[in-house]
Amino acid sequence: MTDPLIPAVLAFRPNGSPFSPLYDDIYHSAVGALEQAHHVFLRGNELPERWQRRRTFTVLETGFGIGINFLATWAAWRADPARCERLHFVSAEKHPFSAADLRRVLAITISDPLITELADALATAWPMLVPGTHRLEFEGGRVVLTLIFADAVESLPALRLRADAFYLDGFAPAKNPELWSPAIFKSLARVAGDDATFATYSSAGDVKRALTQCGFEYRKVDGFGWKRAMLVGRFAPRWRVRRHEPPAPFAHDARHAVVIGAGLAGCAVIERLAARGWRVTSLERHASVAQDASGNPAGVFHPMISRDDSVASRVTRAGFLYALNRWAALERAGHRLTRGDRGLLQIAADDDEASAISDAIATFRYPSDYVTPVSAADAAQLAGMPLARGGWFFPRGGWIEPASLCAAQLAAAGGLLERRFGVDVARLERCGDQWTVFDTAGTALARAPVVIVAGAHEAARIAGLRYAPTRSIRGQLSLLPEGSVAPLALPVIGEGYAVPLANGVTLTGATYELDDTDTTLRADGHRENIERVAQMLPAFASALDAAPLTALAGRVAFRCVTSDRMPMIGQLADEGAASRDAARLRGAWPLDLPRVDGLYGAFAYGSRGLVWAALGAELIASQIEGEPWPLERDLAEDIDPARFLLRALRQGTLS
Ligand SMILES: Cc1cc2nc3c(=O)[nH]c(=O)nc-3n(C[C@H](O)[C@H](O)[C@H](O)COP(=O)(O)OP(=O)(O)OC[C@H]3O[C@@H](n4cnc5c(N)ncnc54)[C@H](O)[C@@H]3O)c2cc1C
Repeated sequence: MTDPLIPAVLAFRPNGSPFSPLYDDIYHSAVGALEQAHHVFLRGNELPERWQRRRTFTVLETGFGIGINFLATWAAWRADPARCERLHFVSAEKHPFSAADLRRVLAITISDPLITELADALATAWPMLVPGTHRLEFEGGRVVLTLIFADAVESLPALRLRADAFYLDGFAPAKNPELWSPAIFKSLARVAGDDATFATYSSAGDVKRALTQCGFEYRKVDGFGWKRAMLVGRFAPRWRVRRHEPPAPFAHDARHAVVIGAGLAGCAVIERLAARGWRVTSLERHASVAQDASGNPAGVFHPMISRDDSVASRVTRAGFLYALNRWAALERAGHRLTRGDRGLLQIAADDDEASAISDAIATFRYPSDYVTPVSAADAAQLAGMPLARGGWFFPRGGWIEPASLCAAQLAAAGGLLERRFGVDVARLERCGDQWTVFDTAGTALARAPVVIVAGAHEAARIAGLRYAPTRSIRGQLSLLPEGSVAPLALPVIGEGYAVPLANGVTLTGATYELDDTDTTLRADGHRENIERVAQMLPAFASALDAAPLTALAGRVAFRCVTSDRMPMIGQLADEGAASRDAARLRGAWPLDLPRVDGLYGAFAYGSRGLVWAALGAELIASQIEGEPWPLERDLAEDIDPARFLLRALRQGTLS
């Protein structure tokens, strides 16, 4: 039987959406939708009973559609006094609606006022239509929706999570044959928790066969409405069906972590752990937060566009969007962030770059709220002064004062945070299930089952890592006093950058000097900064003559980078165990590596600390708690601190 498609839903299909397919490919059913969601997916998975009194419960759905199943699940969770502490709902959607269309379709479909409120919140939080993983939080973070805007066939294998219930939706055999493929069921088996259940209103023979092959038991039960029968069942493999177990929940009673370093990396981790109810001890060498690289008066943030949508572009996109959500949540909670909100202009280095990036924007059909190409005239209009060339405009990009973000993150942690500032961490020692952190005099500073090393250049040394090569890159910023250059309306970046700060000062930067340890301001650095900005903004050339460069204010700080310019984020590998087992691990994959219990790294954020820190922190918190990861596994592997060890193992160069 074919599922009826509601004409009203179809009428809102976005013709211009990058994900917009032929109508025939779409499977969005909204007939008695909430009742159906309740009967098929909630009751079919024995919910709410199975999530009761648990810390987390994870639902994995194969097709989000307009989110009816999510809304029904959220509403049931809300109504249940014995609900789990944290509900994760992970869903893939190849053809997402725009926020406006989603709002309109939900308004037509839903009449229950309680669910309308949730539908409004969903439409308000709905992400930009760009591919990748989007994490949205509701109910103060207790209901977490991870949406993957991608084909389920491709995205499910990239998930790292432990699913407690599967909603096998989006199954209309004639319209979605690829969702029937055995590959999909293999992906589900890879992430199924013990006794994970599933429900689907398909009862086709192919589905039954694939379920059985992949370790699921099924039974036929009464269907709903026009569907006479449906399948429910559980994961009960009779033989080993997967190479790696899905992530395990945190096993200790004491949720206490030590975070070493209170810059952008460490403060973001503190906020993400405290949001999950963790007690956190922050160890920092300086007397206050954000004193080293994170102490710059401002930094810029924006996504990265590339013609091949490189790994760096994908991680940066995920990080940028996640950071925007987190910052907005901090502001809604009353924390003040010093930041600009007029967008950011990126100016092409030359015509070739301009056309390459314009091609990429067109190819990936990025929406205009993400990025728009602009001519030199449009760019000048936005910047409020003439520009040498056009480029592209990021309406949600901008600048932020990192220290204000760090302060807000620590304030959000509230009473769960213990600050131990002015201490110099030297080393760590594991005893039983606890880590002890020692200072340079050998005094034990703190003890906890989990340690996150976020000490930039010092992180690898503190964690005792040999395969985590980082280097230092000096950067000098120049502060042009009010009146020395015409005021810019928004940050302009390209070869260099110019940022109009709130106090009328314009920040320009930054030099990039490998292994240069000089902490003093240099006149040639100021000249370099101004000259590079003047190539984009010719009016800035006057700043070279306005005052002696030796009198200019500025700041010197040091970026911590790896050779591949990607950050180091996640659980650390056990290098000793890997080296003892080097022969066997020669062809290893990241999940094969031995890891150190309770030890994580968040460092080497290079020039992108602002876009990477929040997502990195969420990834680490998710890894610690055994929750779904907030980005695709292949991307997490590209920022895995164990990647250099893995390379050495593969090349047989481990000593
Ligand atoms: C000139 C310049 C311009 C930049 N511009 C931008 C920009 O526009 N946008 C952007 O996103 N990024 C920018 N960056 C990069 C950004 O500043 C960094 O990526 C980010 O600040 C790194 O944060 P972090 O917490 O890893 O390191 P840090 O801010 O360096 O923090 C590390 C902390 O660990 C502490 N610590 C280290 N060792 C120990 C120890 N043994 N015991 C106790 N505490 C310890 C340190 O005291 C420090 O507070 C720029 C960087 C520079 C240098």
